[in-house]
Amino acid sequence: MSAANTFRNILRISVLWAMLPLVNTTDRIQAAAPNFVIIFCDDLGYGDLGCFGHPNIRTPNLDRMAADGQKWTSFYVAAPVCTPSRAGLLTGRLPIRNGMTSPKRVVLFPDSGGGLPAEEITIAEILKDQGYNTACIGKWHLGHLPQFLPRTQGFDSYFGIPYSNDMHANGGVPLMRNEDVIERPTDQTTVTKRYTEAAVEFLKSQDAETPFFLYLPHTMPHIPIFASNDFKGRSSRGLYGDVVQELDWSVGQILQTLRDTGFSQNTLVVFTSDNGPWLSQKLNGGSAGLLRAGKGTTFEGGMRVPTIFWWPDQIKAGSVVTEMGCTTDLMATFASLAGGSIPNDRTMDSLDLTPVLQGNGPSPRKSMFYYTRGELYAVRHENYKLHLRSREPVHYGRPPIEHDPPLLYDVEVDPGEQYDIAEKNPNVVARLKRLIEEHRSGVQPAPDQLAIPL
Ligand code: MG
Repeated sequence: MSAANTFRNILRISVLWAMLPLVNTTDRIQAAAPNFVIIFCDDLGYGDLGCFGHPNIRTPNLDRMAADGQKWTSFYVAAPVCTPSRAGLLTGRLPIRNGMTSPKRVVLFPDSGGGLPAEEITIAEILKDQGYNTACIGKWHLGHLPQFLPRTQGFDSYFGIPYSNDMHANGGVPLMRNEDVIERPTDQTTVTKRYTEAAVEFLKSQDAETPFFLYLPHTMPHIPIFASNDFKGRSSRGLYGDVVQELDWSVGQILQTLRDTGFSQNTLVVFTSDNGPWLSQKLNGGSAGLLRAGKGTTFEGGMRVPTIFWWPDQIKAGSVVTEMGCTTDLMATFASLAGGSIPNDRTMDSLDLTPVLQGNGPSPRKSMFYYTRGELYAVRHENYKLHLRSREPVHYGRPPIEHDPPLLYDVEVDPGEQYDIAEKNPNVVARLKRLIEEHRSGVQPAPDQLAIPL
């Protein structure tokens, strides 16, 4: 810990001691800094949860989380595939700004030599500066070489699979603790269970004096999918349903641990997914529900994800937000709640969603820029979305389809993007094109990290 951090902590603790006679313990900690947990599934689709409309995958814990918390129905990720999506969440920046999206390679692979650049500032680093304990448990996928692993980006500890669970190298998928491989190949039937146990252990090891940030990016339900014996064969949806039901159990364990330890009143938990369902995996992939397409595409099914915010007594139970939010906004939101600030020496794509969580203001997010493979594909502003180019899941390996004139959808009346209304709305098309030009003039693409060979 740096001298500045130590000093800040001493100062914080002294201030708290001075306040001790005035306020009760819960208020004192709440005023100081809330804890944060991000549960980030891999390739879970918009339509895969009971509370998002799946007819027979049973998700009672997530349904209860939504009933006790806030469900977001227009929440986005920064990209429709793993690596850039994770980079966006952790840095609060579109991946085009830090080289984490590429026209040459979709994501990082075991033979990649790049990763999230050290000079990028993550949520974990922001919170570390505020005196937080931090842990990353699960799939990293922002560089597997020692100089890119979680402990170089603000996390105190790491446990998990460093990239996708279908990426075999040197004898199978590795499981790591900090910088060491502890199992290879990883027994993936118990990976959800073991991540959950590690998360529960981390939560139980915390004390009330030091706030914490737990980042739990699950390996499942990315293919190949596995459920433990307790969950196998349980869901009428088949193995994919079993896997989602085990993830639901995991969420239940996390929330119950927060209740049991007394942290629940002071902990914001966010549940979401890194991108849409991998439709080409057929029965082993998920569902985007009524949204069009899935993973790898910039249609809504690729980038709009099932999202729940939970914070008892702070967030109104059973609230539903239909306004936009994005995983890149988590940094500004957490920084604001923790009394910190986001970097001001670089362009950020992070907006503070606190007013929406507290129910006292609209979402500051009015626009979304949809990037994949290093290129801007589409833009949404309020209810309108304009596609310059697109990919359907079946065109995964081919060049994108160029749309000239562009496609225009009203994604509020037509969330499934079925009815192109460009011809009847030339003024809207012109307005969104201007927004794109304005955005582009502010984007300086960074050196491509994904194309760097080992
Ligand atoms: Mg993914």
